[in-house]
This record gives sequence, structure tokens and C-alpha cells, in this order.
Amino acid sequence: MTQLALLGGSPVRTKLFPAHNFIGEEEKQKVMEIMDSGVLSRFLGVWHDDFYGGDEVQGFEREWADSYQAKYGISVNSCTSGLYAAAGAAGVGPGDEVIVSPYTMVASVTAAIAFNAVPVFADIDPQNFCLSPQSIREKITERTKAIIVVHLFGHPADMDEIMEIAREHNIIVIEDCAQAPCATYKGRPVGTLGHMGVFSLNYHKHIHSGEGGIVLTNDERLADRLCMIRNHAEAVVTGREVDSLVNMVGFNFRLGELEAGIGRMQLVKSQGLINHRRRNVDYFNRNLPTLPGLTISPVADDVEHSYYTEVLNYDAEAAGLSRDVMVRALQAELPETEMRKGHGALIGGGYVKPIYLYPMFQKQIAYGDLGCPFKCPHYKGQASYEAGICPETEWAHDTIITHEYMQPSLSEGDIDDVLKAFEKVGDNLDDLRRFEADSVTN
Ligand SMILES: *Cc1c(COP(=O)(O)O)cnc(C)c1O
Repeated sequence: MTQLALLGGSPVRTKLFPAHNFIGEEEKQKVMEIMDSGVLSRFLGVWHDDFYGGDEVQGFEREWADSYQAKYGISVNSCTSGLYAAAGAAGVGPGDEVIVSPYTMVASVTAAIAFNAVPVFADIDPQNFCLSPQSIREKITERTKAIIVVHLFGHPADMDEIMEIAREHNIIVIEDCAQAPCATYKGRPVGTLGHMGVFSLNYHKHIHSGEGGIVLTNDERLADRLCMIRNHAEAVVTGREVDSLVNMVGFNFRLGELEAGIGRMQLVKSQGLINHRRRNVDYFNRNLPTLPGLTISPVADDVEHSYYTEVLNYDAEAAGLSRDVMVRALQAELPETEMRKGHGALIGGGYVKPIYLYPMFQKQIAYGDLGCPFKCPHYKGQASYEAGICPETEWAHDTIITHEYMQPSLSEGDIDDVLKAFEKVGDNLDDLRRFEADSVTN
């Protein structure tokens, strides 16, 4: 039997995995057309025709909204900006609470902080890693203004239940779809199930324009408020009829024409790229060797996953090996990916630390040094961020294994190498157990 790479043997593969590059001729041609026009942005931050941006921006918004069957699409320069704009449009402000997931990229939480509201963490459902409706119910107070739901890893949250809670309590729901373009819930695309849905076109996502994002909504008033917040609202309200000045404090979240043009070309490719990810996952799952303690995290029957990441559940006790050593052994067998050198293998443990454990929450300091918004005199609640508040999230962080060996650039042959790494690790578990025992005693 060949020695594991972690223990000094040679790895299953050394040739880098092919790059995840799906910028092609269409994007290049589009960019050259825009360059020739000389118009790289047409936004004006005053009330004028150009308040809504140029042709590419408006075309991108229309096409994205149409493809998701939403009434309005408001482009922004990142999903982070989109989440901030959505929280602002929802009227989130001082004294309010926003229920959020602690298991997400941090921008889904800072969107509440950006408007001086206090994030309240509900726990995840360990089946899908998204907010648990039951846990949301337990966290609702009279101060709850909004819920930010994240369709984590590309698996939709349980939206029917969540919208039911929102209706009962008159709460706005913002969907963070950064990891879930083309994911569906009971046949409907995510991003159109809540009041606003926010997508990312960042380089690391399913499709990208370098940086970029878009917010979808069917609500005309929210759409208008989103456009205002995106583009210097405080100056633009003059000469316009606005029913509320709340949060009409503008930013510059505008997307450029080049990124919008690239985004239009990427949108056309998105369904194909995501179907390719689904096929790759199917191949991986059908061929994954049996290892003690390792199981594929199930996907709900009534959803279509978009596989930003696939989750493998890992029971260290059943395996007789810690997750850390298991992951290190797998990583050691696999090379890096072209264009992503220094990022390591596309497999890891735990995803992010529960957000409430970040220093901002542990020290309760965000704006200035007075503890705002947590200790703001308008805030009548009691924020709680101790370790242990979301046990399912902590369980996931401590136990799951995640991988991205479904990127559309990977062939079945590439995936075979990944599967060989699992097989080799499975054949050498005793060596790893001894290695672990030795490292503990030393
Ligand atoms: C990537 C990501 C974001 C932020 O997207 P940007 O476009 O980089 O700002 C927000 N939420 C989640 C869940 C993400 O994965």
C-alpha cells in the first residue's frame, strides 16, 4: 500500500487542477464594444435620466430580473453593497433587531450593523445549514424589523415557513443568494421568495464580473428606495416625492458599464455552468468510496441545489479519527488549482467560525468606542453573543467537511483523482490513527 502524502508518501496527483475560468470571447467582445463607446459609467447622483445609469447597467438589470421572473432588478457593485442597500430600504434602524444566520459570509450580518441595528443570531437547521424557522420564531421580539436568510452553499432555506413567520409579525425578509444563483425552492428561483433577494458577481462565485451584484424585488417602493440608497439619496430626494426620509442616506454602490456588460454575458451562461456543477456532484456522489463516519449531506426533495460548495458530514467518533487529521490527509493528496495558487486544495473543514464569536460581537464595538449599536440608548433589548447560543452552527463548524470539486472546469478524470484521494485515505486509516495518537502524546 502506498504511503499517505501527509505521512511522507507521494500524493495522488501533483498536476494542478485546471482553472475555473469561464470568461470567454463573448465577454471580451462586449468589453471592447463598451471601451469603444467611451462610456464606462453613465450614472449621475442627481435626479436626472442618468440617475438610473447607462445602457449596460439597465440592460443587465432587465435581463436578470426577467430571467428570475422578478419585477425589478437593481444592480450594485457587490452583494455586500446590495445587502446594505436592502437593509436600508427595509427601514432598518437604531433600536431595531435583525435576525441573521451566524453561519455565513460576514456581510449578511454587517448589513444590519450598517444601519445601526443589532444582529440577533438564530440557529441553523443542520439538514441544510440555513436559518431554522423554529429558531427564528424563538428569537422574534417586538423589535425585530427584518430577517436576513442565507441560502448557504447553494441549498435553499425553508422559505415557506420563514415567509409565514414574516407575515405573522410584519417583518421584511432579505434573501442572501450570493451562493445560490439558479437554486430553486418548490420550483421557484431563490431571490424572488422574500421581499428582496441579493446576488453576487464576485470573482469567487458561480458567475462573475470581477466585482458586482444585483438586488431583485417585486415591490415598487422597495425598488425605488434601493435605487436611492445606491446613488446619493440625500441629494436626490430634493425635487422628488419620497414618502419617507428614513435611511435616505446615499452611498455610491453603482456598478460600472464594463462589469454590467460582462454580467449580461455571464447571466446567459449561468444555467449551463450550474447544471455542469450538478452533474459533477452527481458523479462525485455516485463514486465516493465508503469511509467510516463520512456521509453526503442530504438535499431536500423539493429544492434544486446550486452547489457553490458540497457538504460531507463527518462523525469523528465513528471514523476513529479527528476531522482535522482527516482533512489534512485529503488536502495533502491533492494539488492546488491553476489561477488560485496559494489557496490550497479545494477541500476544508468547518466553513466560517460562527459570526457571533468575531471580535466585533465579543467586544460589542462597531461605531465609535461607545458600543453603538449594541449599547445605543434607543436599543431596549439585550444582545447575547456568548459561545453556545447556536449549538447547531457550532456543531457544523466543528464537524463538517466542505469541498468545491464540482467546479465546471473539472472533468470526470479530475474528479476521479479526488475520489482516489478519498480511497487512499480510507485504505490507510490505521496509519492516520497512529499519527494522531503520536501527535497527541508528543
Ligand atoms: C460572497 C458572499 C457575500 C458577499 O459578496 P460580495 O459580492 O463579495 O460582496 C455575501 N454573502 C454570502 C453568503 C457570500 O458567500
